[in-house]
Amino acid sequence: MIRTENLTRIFRTEEVETIALNGVNIEVEDGEFIAIMGPSGCGKSTLLNILGLLDSPTEGKYWLNNEEVGHLKERERTAYRKGRIGFVFQNFNLIDELTVEENVDLQLKYLGVGKAERKERVLEILRKVKLSHRAKHYPHQLSGGQQQRIAIARAIVNEPEVLLLDEPLAALDLKMRKDMQLELKQMHERLGITFVYVTHDQEEALTLSNTIVVMSEGEIQQIGTPTDIYNEPANAFVADFIGESNILCGTMVHDCLVKVAGAEIPCVDKGFGCNQEVDVVIRPEDIEVSTDTAHAQFVGKITSSIFKGVHYEMLAETEKGNEFLIQNYKHFEVGQTIGMSVIPDNIHIMKKERITNTFDAKVNGDGTIEFLGCEYQMEIPAEMKDKIK
Ligand code: ADP
Ligand code: MG
Repeated sequence: MIRTENLTRIFRTEEVETIALNGVNIEVEDGEFIAIMGPSGCGKSTLLNILGLLDSPTEGKYWLNNEEVGHLKERERTAYRKGRIGFVFQNFNLIDELTVEENVDLQLKYLGVGKAERKERVLEILRKVKLSHRAKHYPHQLSGGQQQRIAIARAIVNEPEVLLLDEPLAALDLKMRKDMQLELKQMHERLGITFVYVTHDQEEALTLSNTIVVMSEGEIQQIGTPTDIYNEPANAFVADFIGESNILCGTMVHDCLVKVAGAEIPCVDKGFGCNQEVDVVIRPEDIEVSTDTAHAQFVGKITSSIFKGVHYEMLAETEKGNEFLIQNYKHFEVGQTIGMSVIPDNIHIMKKERITNTFDAKVNGDGTIEFLGCEYQMEIPAEMKDKIK
């Protein structure tokens, strides 16, 4: 239904040039629920606006239902969009002077639907979003969640082929957000239309969508199902962004064996070569913790422990100074020595992608370090003091 090829959008002003999208290729099937996620400023809204024909790409192609629409001029875009694409924004964009039913009716009026049919369809859609009893109210008389449901009702009343949602729940409080997430998911199943959902909230993307597109700095980092993205992050950026992770430097000894945090541990990954440096991702909930240190892969000391409502979130430090974030239903005391193990399936190996800059530096007697022409205060570990020149 949606397909893009090398979609690029550059914003130019007199002083600066921003590459908001850089060679984006996506494909969305009919009826899919796709989430586009990534940190603020990575180009999510820019992509959504192009998909929604509110903007056009600087370069690249965009097919909507097999028709190339990326090159359309503004007037043609508006005409094409009409009735086919629904939009829901973070700020609900309701008209304060109009009642709930008038707000929803506006879209149909614009499309030239007859009066009797409009009335019926507005009532029907208000029933769907469970707000028929608020039809005569004005937006300011409703809660945030109700206003957002009206914005959604307005966007879907004309049964568009695709609904584009740009952080639609970001303005709501946590409880309301959870309720609305559930409602959106059910609505998607009921309506059968394609949802493209932009969010910076990883949990929202994981729970709602069938497919997730992870973006960073205008580029796609990974496309996959929520389980793929969570269990097999393509790189350190995705691993770090989706859920909390331990990302450790390791060395692939050979296929299915990796050396990390001083221990050689079995994994299921192959094809990374021998003695190659890799990133090792371990999810906090995948670390098994016990007081049995003799049979554990890693031994560490608990340095902090916080109760998170369901589980405890703890930090443990190994003798070699590696830190592990752990989530466990059981509580271990700060200062307690514990054993940690991870089964091979839960070790995720990634190609090393991070870049390290190395500079020549001079350490001064007063505990400052000098490099690139600046002086920085630093603490020098006691055992290194005599080694530093
Ligand atoms: P996101 O929605 O992921 O937070 P955006 O798509 O809004 O990100 O923005 C991506 C980048 O493009 C940002 O650096 C932003 O400042 C820039 N940008 C977005 N819209 C414009 C515009 N109209 N003019 C200039 N720069 C823009
Ligand atoms: Mg945005």
